[in-house]
Amino acid sequence: MIDVTRLSSGISESPDGGVSIGGEVRNSAVANHPLIRERYPMLSQAILNGASGQIRNMATVAGNIMQRTRCYYFYDDAANCNKRSPGSGCDAIDGFNRIHAILGASERCIATHPSDMCVALAALDATVNIESAVGKRTIPFNSFHCLPGETPHVETVLAHDELITSVELPPLPFAKRSIYRKVRDRASYAFALVSVAAALETENGKVRNVRLALGGVAPKPWRAFDAERVLLGADVGMRAFREAADAELSKARGYRDNSFKIELARRTIAGVLSELADSAGRP
Ligand code: SF4
Repeated sequence: MIDVTRLSSGISESPDGGVSIGGEVRNSAVANHPLIRERYPMLSQAILNGASGQIRNMATVAGNIMQRTRCYYFYDDAANCNKRSPGSGCDAIDGFNRIHAILGASERCIATHPSDMCVALAALDATVNIESAVGKRTIPFNSFHCLPGETPHVETVLAHDELITSVELPPLPFAKRSIYRKVRDRASYAFALVSVAAALETENGKVRNVRLALGGVAPKPWRAFDAERVLLGADVGMRAFREAADAELSKARGYRDNSFKIELARRTIAGVLSELADSAGRP
């Protein structure tokens, strides 16, 4: 066992106007940092919506990124689980799958990624800095986690000898007005059924810029690229917001217990975008 907690490089402003966060920085420190609260409120809100105060005081940024699914069958040694034991099957597909994925799943695994923080990092186009004995590399956040495909036991592109050293947030002035909305079974200490991280910039009644990512619905933090494409340049309003949500969810597939997530995601996306649009003229 190796203690890496003293490797932390803290939270600092990058030369390009972004923010650099050390991999060992505690989640509560990120959520409460003035730079994060002011420039990337969706990230602060996402972290504060996760876990409990005690856990956030101990959890690190790198650890949060490496979180594993909360699929019940993954933790049950008596169950078949391709992620835990490749080739054994997936008891969730025909089992109780209320918390499972509607996007990006495969016939091998329908688990969801559990992190709130990562949904905001996906929306913000963060990058992950990695180091090993042989060198350093940087990975775009949206390429860091893997979809299950045929190999659900492979969850990230991180090699066994690599360590996450820091996360970089690029400058994104319009993210100053951003929201993380988490829909869950109870108000605290519960994983997302659906979550939405969004930032919206409007100009003369049109969408000038938008970032949108979803949590609780896919095996990885889900950047809603299809919805963003529909929104860019569209007239600001509920019609465009609903069309964007429809575009993103057109490939969604529900299972026995989780089909409700499709409509829930649609409504949450439209609601969050509407709230951002309504706040656009306010200081
Ligand atoms: Fe395992 Fe994935 Fe199936 Fe859950 S959904 S039982 S993690 S293979």
